[in-house]
Amino acid sequence: STKADKDWLQGYVDDWVDFYRKHTKEGQVASYIPILAKANPNHLGISIHGKNGMIVKSGDTDIPFTIQSISKVISFMVACMEKGIGYVLDRVDVEPTGEAFNSIMHLEMKSIDKPLNPFVNAGALTVTSMLNGKTAMEKLEPILKLLEKMIGYRPTINQAVFESEEESSARNRAIGYYLVETGFLESNLELTLETYFKQCSIEITVDDLARIGLILANDGRDPFGEGEIIPRQIARIVKALMLTCGMYDASGKFATYVGIPAKSGVSGGIMAVAPPRVRERYLPFIEGCGIGVYGPALEDRGNSIAGIKLLKHIASQWDLSVF
Ligand code: GLU
Repeated sequence: STKADKDWLQGYVDDWVDFYRKHTKEGQVASYIPILAKANPNHLGISIHGKNGMIVKSGDTDIPFTIQSISKVISFMVACMEKGIGYVLDRVDVEPTGEAFNSIMHLEMKSIDKPLNPFVNAGALTVTSMLNGKTAMEKLEPILKLLEKMIGYRPTINQAVFESEEESSARNRAIGYYLVETGFLESNLELTLETYFKQCSIEITVDDLARIGLILANDGRDPFGEGEIIPRQIARIVKALMLTCGMYDASGKFATYVGIPAKSGVSGGIMAVAPPRVRERYLPFIEGCGIGVYGPALEDRGNSIAGIKLLKHIASQWDLSVF
C-alpha cells in the first residue's frame, strides 16, 4: 500500500539524515557574506517530492534560507523565456569552468569570447543584466512570478542578507566592471548588482527546492497542475547546465558519484532533479522526483558537505543516476 511504502521510505530517509548529520562538523558555514555566518552549522534537512504525490522529508526542513546561487537557474530560465534561447546563448556560453563561482581567472583569456556559463558570477550577472525592466523590482518580478507558480506562494527577499551582500560585494563589482568594459552588461552595473543581490536573497525552504526540482524532472510541467510552466527545451538546457556546472568546481565529481542534475548555493541549499528512467527495481516515488537539501556547513568548494554525502547515499541506494 502507499501508506506502507511511505513509512518504509520515511524510515530510510530518517536513518540516513541521522547518520550524515555528523558530517556537518567537517564543514564550515559561508562567512564571506557576514550574515550567512550566523547559520547553524549542525542543520541538515531534506525534502523529496514524488511525481506520484508522495512527499518524504526529514531533519531540519522548516528553516528558511536564502536561495543564493540556485537563483541563477531561475534567472537563466526567465531570460530564455523573455529573450529567447538563442539570444541568451549568444551572450553566455554553456561550458564548465573548473574554477570557483566568483573566479576572475577566465575573464581575460583572449580565447574566451563570452562568460563561460550562466552559473558562474560573470555569466549570472550578464544574464541578470538582460532581464526586462528599468528597476531591480521590475527585473525581479518575473523571477518571483515563476517561483510563485512553482512553489505555490510568493517568496520574499531577506533584506538583511541583501544588505550584507551589498556590503561585501568587492569581488562581484570587479567582475561587473570587467563585464562593463567588455560590453556584456545590458543594464548599468548598479542596477545589475542590485537585482543580482536581491535574487540571491530570496528566501525559500527545502520543500520549495524539491517542488522546483519536481517540475524540472517532469520537463517543465507540474504533475499536479495544468500546462507547461517552463518550456521543455529550456528545462532540458538548464538540467544539462546543472549536471555540468551546477555544483561549482565539484560538478564533475557530483556527476560521477551522484549522477543527477543539481544546483547548490553558498547558504547550504541544493536543488536536485531525478528525471524518470528505466530501472531494475521500480519505485514509483523516485520516477521524476525533485529533491531539496539544506545543510549550511560547506566543503571547500562551497557545497553543503553533509548534503552531498546524503545525496550520494540516496542516489546509490535508489539508483538515481541518469547514466
Ligand atoms: N550571493 C552570492 C555571490 O555571488 C551567491 C553565491 C553562491 O551561492 O554561490 O557572492
